[in-house]
Amino acid sequence: MPPRYQPADSLASPRFTGVRTFARLPHVRTTAEVDVAVVGLPFDTGATYKVGARFGPESIRSASAMLRPYNAELDVQVFAQLSVVDYGDAPVIPGFIDDSYAAITATLRPLAEAQVITLGLGGDHSIALAELRALAAVHGPLALVQFDSHGDLWDSYYGGHKYTHGTPFRRAVEEGLILPARSIQLGMRGSLFGQEDLQIARDMGFTVLTTTQLLACSPREIGDLVRQQVGDGKVFLSFDVDFFDPAYAPGTGTPEVGGPSSFQGLAYLRACTGIRWVGADVVEVLPAHDHAQITAQLAAQVGYEFLSLVALGPV
Ligand code: MN
Ligand code: MN
Repeated sequence: MPPRYQPADSLASPRFTGVRTFARLPHVRTTAEVDVAVVGLPFDTGATYKVGARFGPESIRSASAMLRPYNAELDVQVFAQLSVVDYGDAPVIPGFIDDSYAAITATLRPLAEAQVITLGLGGDHSIALAELRALAAVHGPLALVQFDSHGDLWDSYYGGHKYTHGTPFRRAVEEGLILPARSIQLGMRGSLFGQEDLQIARDMGFTVLTTTQLLACSPREIGDLVRQQVGDGKVFLSFDVDFFDPAYAPGTGTPEVGGPSSFQGLAYLRACTGIRWVGADVVEVLPAHDHAQITAQLAAQVGYEFLSLVALGPV
C-alpha cells in the first residue's frame, strides 16, 4: 500500500499552481494514516531583536514547492516511505506568549498521542518550549539535537522575563522536558555576554560544539558524535536557521557572521541518520529580511532533510 498522503506530482501539474502547502502536500487535519505532520507555528513576539518570523511558515511553504520526492544524497524516496500532511497552523496569539504556548501545545499534543511525528515551521525559537511540552508529555523527556549559533539557555531578559527566544531550552531543562546529558548543541558562535555563557550549557550537562569545533570535523564524525550522544532514546531536532552564515540565511532575526555554508550545514544534518526522531522544527526565518527566498528555501530543505532522515528509519 502506498502512503495515504503524498505531495502533488510536479510532473503532472506545475509547482506554481495550487494553494501553497509544505512540499505541495495535502492540507489535512487528521492523525489517521499520517506518519508526519508539518505544522506552522507563526509566533514571533518572543524575539529579542528583529521580529517578523510570524511570516516564516508562509515563506517556507512557498519556497518548498521546489522540493522533489527523491533525496539523492540519502538515497531515499521520502514520500514512498512516509504519509505526510500539512496540518496548517497553530492558532497563536501575537504578543501573548503564554496563550500562544498553550495553543501550540494543544495543537501538537493530539498528534504526539497518535504517534505522529511533528515538523514545526517557526516562528521564533521561543516556540520550541511549547513543542517540547506537548511531545515530552507523551514520549517522556527527550534528547535534543540543536543546530543554532546560540544556546538559547539564558535565564531571563530585561529584568527577569523568562519566556523569550533566548531562553526556551533553559525552561525545558527546568521543566524536565529534555535530557541535557543526552543532548548536543552544534554551531555556537558570535559575541557573548561573558565567558560563562558557553560554560552554562556545559555545566548543565549539554555537549556543545562551537562553529570552529564543528567545522574541524567531517560530517561522518559529527553523525557518530550525535548518535553516541542521543543513544537509542527519543530525540527532538531543533534547527535555527541562524546556524548558517548570514550569507546563506540572511532572513533571520539575530544573525551571526562566520558560520557554515548551506552545503556544509546540510551535510552535517544528513549525517544524523539512525536516530529515533519524534519531532523537529526549523525556526527563525524572517521573510522581510530575506532576499530571493534564500533563507526560506534553505529552511524548506532542512525540513525535507528531516523528513528524509525519518523515512530512512532509526536503524
Ligand atoms: Mn540562534
Ligand atoms: Mn535559537
